This record gives sequence, C-alpha cells and structure tokens, in this order.
Amino acid sequence: MSTRDSGAVLQARALTRRFGGLTAVNAVSLTVAPKSVHAVIGPNGAGKSTLINLLSGDLRPTSGTLHLGDTDLTSLTPAQRSHRGIGRSYQKTNIFKPFTAFENCRLAAQSRTPRAARWLAVAAAYDDLRDAALASLTRVGLAERADIAAGLLSHGEQRQLEIAMALATQPEVLLLDEPLAGMGADEAERMIALLAELGRAHALLLVEHDMDAVFALAETLTVMVNGSVIASGHPATVRANAEVQRAYLGDDAGDDVCDDGGAGHARKRP
Ligand code: ADP
Ligand code: MG
Repeated sequence: MSTRDSGAVLQARALTRRFGGLTAVNAVSLTVAPKSVHAVIGPNGAGKSTLINLLSGDLRPTSGTLHLGDTDLTSLTPAQRSHRGIGRSYQKTNIFKPFTAFENCRLAAQSRTPRAARWLAVAAAYDDLRDAALASLTRVGLAERADIAAGLLSHGEQRQLEIAMALATQPEVLLLDEPLAGMGADEAERMIALLAELGRAHALLLVEHDMDAVFALAETLTVMVNGSVIASGHPATVRANAEVQRAYLGDDAGDDVCDDGGAGHARKRP
C-alpha cells in the first residue's frame, strides 16, 4: 500500500466554530507539517474535538479557512477531504462490531475509492482493497486478528483497528482524537510506539491527555483553553510557558479546569 506523499502542509487559518452563544473554537490557526507530530492539548471543553471535526469536515466552520497545500478544503465534505488525504479516528470508537477487523478495514478502504471507479474492473479493485486492508492491519499489529469480529477485540485492539481503518484510506494527514483513552499501561506503550512510527510517514495531528505520550511524540505542541490557542511551538518552550503552567500543566491547575481528574497529568503507571 502506498502512502500519498505530496509534501503538502495542512494549514488552518483563524478557524472559528460557534454553537449558539458558545465559541467552541475561536480563531485557531495552526499548521501540520508533513511527516511530523503536532499535539493539541487542553482541559476538557477546550474545543479540541471540535477543532478535529473542523479539520475532518464533520463540522463546518463559522469562519476561517483550511488548506492542504494549495487545495482549499474549507467547504468540502468529509468524503471529499478523505479523497484528498485527510484521515481521522474518533474519540468514541467508530467500528462496526459484528464485522471482522478485516471487513472494517476493507470498507474503510472502499470509502476512499471514487464512486465511479467502484464498478470498473471489479476483481482487480477488490484485490486492491483487500491489499490495502491487510497492509493497514499489519501496520498496526493486528494482522493475526484480521478474521476476529471487531466487537470481540480488546479495547486496545479496537483503538488499533480504528487507526488501521484510517490508514486504509491512505491518508497524508491523520487526525487522532485521544487514541490512548481508556488504555492500560501496556496497551498505551504499544500505541505510543505505533504513533511514533506513523509520525514518520504521515502528518499526525494528535489530541491527547496523556502528557507522557505528548512529550514523547510531539514535535509541535498547541495548548487550547476555552476555544483559543494560548501557546504553540516547541514542546519544551510551551511547557515552560507561564500561562500554560497556570491554565493547564501546573500541579494545582488540574483540579480546577479538568473534570476527568487526569488531564494535564502523567498517566499513572503500575
Ligand atoms: P474538548 O474535546 O476539548 O473536550 P469539545 O470540542 O468537545 O472539547 O467541546 C468544546 C465546547 O463546545 C464544550 O463546551 C462543548 O460542550 C461544546 N460543544 C461541542 N460540540 C457541541 C455541539 N454539537 N453543540 C453544542 N455545543 C457543543
Ligand atoms: Mg474531546
């Protein structure tokens, strides 16, 4: 399976999304460079998932623009963005549990195929989809679980499958919303290694609460609070930023701004 590699930069300019009187994402500008990991962190309700939805096309912005290289994605649907190289996983898993891991990936690969081509050279197209599905499962370490119903996979394996499904669409940019959520320490270690590998072949935009993972993986770190970016840049610089310390990373900030009790703090290891 080839990964598209146009070297295009994903660029959001002043993306804003309002829900009634609430500005969930407020004039957020960011770039995701090819083959790099850009992490977005912030307390619950900061607007991180809304931002991912704006990048994937699941939500339309109230204002602002999004480009991949020279291509304006702003008014494109999720399917159109997928065809242009934007892949995503969801914070809540999006797999079809009665189907096998392989079938979930093959359907994801098929969703990427232009509709007109689906009826041409059906047998050859089927081989391509099968190859794409198997290659994606292999990349995430699930090849031997290909024929298991997705609903019977462990939680960690289901998260791996979600990423395989995104990979099956052959994305240039991968948008991942909390891929480590709910994982135990061993599963998380494996996922972090996978994400590090994916970041060498794709542009990765990663929303994640696990600070160990974020600081291990990210080349660029953006901090959102109340819909706005309060700091962005090299992780070490952002970590030292006084406003970030106060709003999010500081030892006594978490209890005030996070309702999950874990955001902003390292994962507890056994
Ligand atoms: P995060 O992912 O950082 O926890 P979200 O992007 O999910 O934050 O939410 C940001 C804010 O937008 C929250 O206040 C949330 O309640 C609100 N919000 C998110 N989606 C919707 C929606 N579809 N309708 C109304 N409000 C929403
Ligand atoms: Mg979220």
